Amino acid sequence: MFILAYLRDIACPSSDKHALVTPWLKGDILGEKLVNLADCLCNEDLESRVSSESHFSERWTLLSLVLSQHVKNDYLIGDVYVERIIVRLHETLFKTKKLSEAESSDSSVSFICDVAYNYFSSAKGCLLMPSSEDLLLTLFQLCAQSKEKTHLPDFLICKLKNTWLSGVNLLVHQTDSSYKESTFLHLSALWLKNQVQASSLDINSLQVLLSAVDDLLNTLLESEDSYLMGVYIGSVMPNDSEWEKMRQSLPMQWLHRPLLEGRLSLNYECFKTDFKEQDIKTLPSHLCTSALLSKMVLIALRKETVLENNELEKIIAELLYSLQWCEELDNPPIFLIGFCEILQKMNITYDNLRVLGNTSGLLQLLFNRSREHGTLWSLIIAKLILSRSISSDEVKPHYKRKESFFPLTEGNLHTIQSLCPFLSKEEKKEFSAQCIPALLGWTKKDLCSTNGGFGHLAIFNSCLQTKSIDDGELLHGILKIIISWKKEHEDIFLFSCNLSEASPEVLGVNIEIIRFLSLFLKYCSSPLAESEWDFIMCSMLAWLETTSENQALYSIPLVQLFACVSCDLACDLSAFFDSTTLDTIGNLPVNLISEWKEFFSQGIHSLLLPILVTVTGENKDVSETSFQNAMLKPMCETLTYISKEQLLSHKLPARLVADQKTNLPEYLQTLLNTLAPLLLFRARPVQIAVYHMLYKLMPELPQYDQDNLKSYGDEEEEPALSPPAALMSLLSIQEDLLENVLGCIPVGQIVTIKPLSEDFCYVLGYLLTWKLILTFFKAASSQLRALYSMYLRKTKSLNKLLYHLFRLMPENPTYAETAVEVPNKDPKTFFTEELQLSIRETTMLPYHIPHLACSVYHMTLKDLPAMVRLWWNSSEKRVFNIVDRFTSKYVSSVLSFQEISSVQTSTQLFNGMTVKARATTREVMATYTIEDIVIELIIQLPSNYPLGSIIVESGKRVGVAVQQWRNWMLQLSTYLTHQNGSIMEGLALWKNNVDKRFEGVEDCMICFSVIHGFNYSLPKKACRTCKKKFHSACLYKWFTSSNKSTCPLCRETFF
Ligand SMILES: [Zn+2]
Ligand SMILES: [Zn+2]
Repeated sequence: MFILAYLRDIACPSSDKHALVTPWLKGDILGEKLVNLADCLCNEDLESRVSSESHFSERWTLLSLVLSQHVKNDYLIGDVYVERIIVRLHETLFKTKKLSEAESSDSSVSFICDVAYNYFSSAKGCLLMPSSEDLLLTLFQLCAQSKEKTHLPDFLICKLKNTWLSGVNLLVHQTDSSYKESTFLHLSALWLKNQVQASSLDINSLQVLLSAVDDLLNTLLESEDSYLMGVYIGSVMPNDSEWEKMRQSLPMQWLHRPLLEGRLSLNYECFKTDFKEQDIKTLPSHLCTSALLSKMVLIALRKETVLENNELEKIIAELLYSLQWCEELDNPPIFLIGFCEILQKMNITYDNLRVLGNTSGLLQLLFNRSREHGTLWSLIIAKLILSRSISSDEVKPHYKRKESFFPLTEGNLHTIQSLCPFLSKEEKKEFSAQCIPALLGWTKKDLCSTNGGFGHLAIFNSCLQTKSIDDGELLHGILKIIISWKKEHEDIFLFSCNLSEASPEVLGVNIEIIRFLSLFLKYCSSPLAESEWDFIMCSMLAWLETTSENQALYSIPLVQLFACVSCDLACDLSAFFDSTTLDTIGNLPVNLISEWKEFFSQGIHSLLLPILVTVTGENKDVSETSFQNAMLKPMCETLTYISKEQLLSHKLPARLVADQKTNLPEYLQTLLNTLAPLLLFRARPVQIAVYHMLYKLMPELPQYDQDNLKSYGDEEEEPALSPPAALMSLLSIQEDLLENVLGCIPVGQIVTIKPLSEDFCYVLGYLLTWKLILTFFKAASSQLRALYSMYLRKTKSLNKLLYHLFRLMPENPTYAETAVEVPNKDPKTFFTEELQLSIRETTMLPYHIPHLACSVYHMTLKDLPAMVRLWWNSSEKRVFNIVDRFTSKYVSSVLSFQEISSVQTSTQLFNGMTVKARATTREVMATYTIEDIVIELIIQLPSNYPLGSIIVESGKRVGVAVQQWRNWMLQLSTYLTHQNGSIMEGLALWKNNVDKRFEGVEDCMICFSVIHGFNYSLPKKACRTCKKKFHSACLYKWFTSSNKSTCPLCRETFF
């Protein structure tokens, strides 16, 4: 302790004592002692704390003092001992760098920080010890790594940061340029370079590293030497081959989308899709390196910094490359989204970079790389033009000489493809002109090469894809060339063959030919010759056969692409023939339509329906956006064109379920059992295509129950009949899933379902299933409907649906497009507009579920009004009010209007009854006339139709007894309240009843109707004694309520 006191005393520079003790201070004895002390402090701490806290810290203070006190720019003790002490400190710190959390000792790090900080901040003018640079490096490294790695607490990191900053500060302010030989600057640059290139950083550690670099560079900026920064950046900058290596190690899945969208064409297999899922945490080295260097450049260019060898342009180019790679990925993992967010947050953007310095060479650099390597480089140029970061005038000089792009290389091809969307008509013509002669006269080998048929056709397709070339002659000319290829080299065309032996070059040229045919159909307005139609349709079917035969190879990207474009062509042809009108039909060869229907369309669907079944059978859980599922989209869209007849004549393997109650024939049952479960398949295209197919079937189904109707009803107590079992069993699975998604949400609180999420899939499937059930229901007769609705009541399915709908329908169902209201016109809503369930159109996806929910509610109110009314009346007060308000506001007027106008436009003729409707008063008037009897009834729709009850009022009455007439009014109101159908149907039932009465059929003496109000049966059960007839449902009710089994009239026991 005495040394400490003593040193404090003499440390004062003015002290005379100093001169006296210098030899001792600088001598071996003290020096060795202090080195020992450092030694012992460092080690002691690492093992176990022996001495008391205060003693311990005082000894550290001594060390600090020795290193930080100077006399005349010189250390107190001998330089060699200063050096040795710093070495000791560094060794200790270095050790902690490698320690795990449990072992780390915060206090020694803290003490070392104190000592070092004092040392750095006082050493101005003194010679820096070589080992102090190592110490500085270690301090910097500790701060530039994430806490997961260093296990240091926040306060220590802060302390460390201050320490190394004071060190660097000292370094850059040295007057002699000794920092130029600084090992710290040299080694830290190397270390940074290694850190980012080792691809071991996750999002968090990259962020820590970037902010440490931010601190470091801002300190370096203070140096007067304007070269320092440039040199530093230069030593972090990888060389060209290092960059190239990093680019190549970026996973290749980015190619999926450009390939599918036809932005780039490939004719070699450059990657397999069954790549191993990358480590989902660490960022690719290219991203880290480009982010780091961009960050450094952003700081450096705040001051006049000289960068050598176009480094600025190169760095910007690489950053653009990184960003483009991220952007092209289909389903970017979360960490990549995080990466892009960090860049934004740290202002590392292209826009911020390009304003910094003169980047005139950048575009040249990008074009050079694009023309040399193609791929992402080409896409970057397109992206820059698209985002208006560069103007087309700036780009033009780079492709002025069209002929310089030929002979075609992959780079040239991709560059032209990327430029296509921005080229003027003339420029496209110039490029096409270079291609046409090249398309002629190829040998078989040339056809498939980039500088042959493949490459030139690809350019032509790109020109066509982005804007129509309205040159019919040219298009026909190319079609003729392709037909001639088929004559000369038919084996190149992949017709009905096994693709496992097909080379990527051949696949590539087939894909371009198929694409051309699709584009040709789209843009060619002049009529085709019969032989041309023949070629297109026969080829389409033959390619589709190849697609069907090679399902095992769909994981190969070019095969997947082949499957996609062949389905696209089938889809385009289907759409073409679907939209032919009497006007356009005249341009087509005779018999073409019938050939299409009978042969080609039939052929398409007999191939695609089985593929749908097998493909969906294999991968049950793949998202719609994954490349593996790419062909689902065009395939499913094509299937939506399948006709009912084609569906009914399917050749799918039988699929029957034991114990499934059904009246359907086997082939229909198989179809339902095969397709219905796919309504829950985890890919929207499949769900929607299956819906469209089943929708066509629904009206066919009730007739089979109708045929068996006699076996239901009268004998049972509460007769009920299940809608198609395949749909109902699917519905019960969906109800469980929906309960998980929506069950805990109060009715009336609106839930937003994220498009394409798992929940989206469930809710979509559920609502589509309901649409089908309701469509089925609508097609059934009144009697059947009564039986089905009884079934839905028993299972409580409808109640569940209604509760869910009031969680899914938007508070305001106004149609998004017409948010601006047209005055004096009712705004368009989800209730007035038909929902387009399209597969390819995805811009409206966020409105899909809300619109669908409204559409289902609309159907429910229209086709099951009595059931909804029953549910509404029994619901709790809060829900009752919500439903009432919403329905009155948005649905009632639409439904009333539809009811009234359906009465007005109805062509249904009643013998002896006329029906009229008045829209303004929402009234329907029915006049029944038979012999000299006239009855007029007025039906008044309530303002919350169909929730509130319908009021039947009397009009004219001639020749009917009051009692009888009241009876009939009551009956009509019963029918209208309890039946699940339209007003016209209710009136028809009622008229039927009255007719029967006049035919002499007697009323049931319990309900005073001929036709039963709920199940529409006639009175059939006769009493053996009095011979009166009753409805079996009425009798059953009578027996249970009276608790006797006697005739209601004669009181004799009923047999
Ligand atoms: Zn009855
Ligand atoms: Zn009787």
